[in-house]
Amino acid sequence: MIHGSLAPVESVSWQSLLSRSITDPEQLLRRLELDPALLAGARAGAADFPLRVPEPFVERMHKSDPNDPLLRQVLPLGEELLEHPDYVLDPLGEQHTNTRAGIIHKYHGRLLLIVSGGCAVNCRYCFRRHFPYGDNNLSTEQWQQALDYIRGDQSIGEVIYSGGDPLAASDKRLAWLTREIAAIPHVRRLRVHTRLPVVIPQRVTSELIDALCGTRLPVVMVLHSNHANEFDAALGNAVLRLRQAGITLLNQTVLLRGVNDSLETLISLSETLGDHGILPYYLHVLDHVKGAQHFHVDDGAAMGLAAEMLARLPGFLVPRLVREVAGETSKTPLPFQTAGTHRLA
Ligand code: SF4
Repeated sequence: MIHGSLAPVESVSWQSLLSRSITDPEQLLRRLELDPALLAGARAGAADFPLRVPEPFVERMHKSDPNDPLLRQVLPLGEELLEHPDYVLDPLGEQHTNTRAGIIHKYHGRLLLIVSGGCAVNCRYCFRRHFPYGDNNLSTEQWQQALDYIRGDQSIGEVIYSGGDPLAASDKRLAWLTREIAAIPHVRRLRVHTRLPVVIPQRVTSELIDALCGTRLPVVMVLHSNHANEFDAALGNAVLRLRQAGITLLNQTVLLRGVNDSLETLISLSETLGDHGILPYYLHVLDHVKGAQHFHVDDGAAMGLAAEMLARLPGFLVPRLVREVAGETSKTPLPFQTAGTHRLA
């Protein structure tokens, strides 16, 4: 059964919400009635990777709580500037796989298109926080070259819209690109990785659905939600519209210290995803990107949490615990710490 109201969520345009995002640390602290003592660190961190957070996401944060799990994902901290030998600018070596503008081709059969370099939110843990997006803003000619590359490789059965956030692109651009890709016979499906509907649910418009779903290609959308508090009525409505359009919905989560590294938090997220008809797909351990070391959860703790989730949830609500390793041809699963003691049901 599908629950929820069918009221449209686009009463305020997503472009307007995007353009009014908070980028000034002082404004964010004031808005959430936080201690001004946080400002110096926030400014220092923002100088390396700017603050950006849209109002609909801020609305879901608790005031006066510096440990709010949604705030922690976006608030710059001075400790991001600490050097750590294991945390580097390009932890996944993508600048070697990004050999053509707009394309990352690192897995067999699948290809990532950098559809937009922009994001609606700057997540402090982002493994692409130092990615040279400026080199991936494609001209019309470069888009044609990217499409020619897909046309020329019969092994590419899946095209993945990535970014930045691909839904930061206009509906017109998405509709054109999707039509072009659907016209390539060996492409079987389209996947969209996005956090935009989570932070600005108003992004899910009829035009967006038409742009993505107007061709023969089945569409899989992988949302990026890290905490059950991210789900409010507007996001629930947006998700419902995506489901009603026939889009398969999955979610991937990054395991983040101080945000979601407890069993109850992860179970609550999986249950909430299940309530909305979204299947938990991946639980990623943190990529070792420079500036994100304060989010680290050690592997033993991560594997223990995954094993406990298996004991408490139906198997289809347990995400796969994975790590991305530079140069590997797929994600690398981490074993359950107590493998053999729990069974899928
Ligand atoms: S939305 Fe995704 S790509 Fe953009 S900053 Fe957040 S994690 Fe990175």
